[in-house]
Amino acid sequence: MHLLIVEDEEKLAKALKKGLELKGFAVDWLPDSEKALNRILLYRSEYDLIILDLMLPGMDGATITERVRKEGVTTPIIILTARNETEHKVDLLNKGADDYVVKPFSFDELLSRINAVLRRPAQQKPVVLRVGPLEMDMATRVVRKNGEEVPLTLKEFALLECFMRQPGEVLSREKLFDHVWDFNSLSWSNVLDVHMKNLRKKLGSDKDEPLFETVRGVGYRLVGEGSIQSE
Ligand code: CA
Repeated sequence: MHLLIVEDEEKLAKALKKGLELKGFAVDWLPDSEKALNRILLYRSEYDLIILDLMLPGMDGATITERVRKEGVTTPIIILTARNETEHKVDLLNKGADDYVVKPFSFDELLSRINAVLRRPAQQKPVVLRVGPLEMDMATRVVRKNGEEVPLTLKEFALLECFMRQPGEVLSREKLFDHVWDFNSLSWSNVLDVHMKNLRKKLGSDKDEPLFETVRGVGYRLVGEGSIQSE
């Protein structure tokens, strides 16, 4: 897997490059937006994923994204954005970014986003996710609890997948919403709560050992340790 990092903060860029190389990625780093644009346009098929800082001198990450998408580049793009820029995140996604990570982020968070984005389009490798009594077969899109099939709607499946890929972690409402619903659905209705309620009902959380925990003011958490099995 070959990644391109475009980031003008040298310290951060070098740390990311080193960390990602340790995870087995080949990583190029460019601090300059013009060079980055040219590199992406010329070597589009070289890269599996591009990590693009939003605030760059010259052209910003959103503009680069828009330009390369207009030129037909389909390589997945993850944008690094500062906390106070998050109100523009929908714009980023509309301009063609696949995901964004808010600074300061942990390396593990970025890594899980990278893995999620890289898995998203291909979906060639059937994978089985397991957390506690739950099993999710990505190939057949069947969910089982203690071996018994639980029929889920598409949205419920997508929502549960978020949890099963990050078991034991608290997922914010915003994150869940962004991952499961269209980037265009801006209405922050109670749609997430309704789906969570349905998921809980269908998966039959027991009172003593709830599958999902509500973390007040933040979001939800799937309890338990997970594993991912590639077939
Ligand atoms: Ca920057």
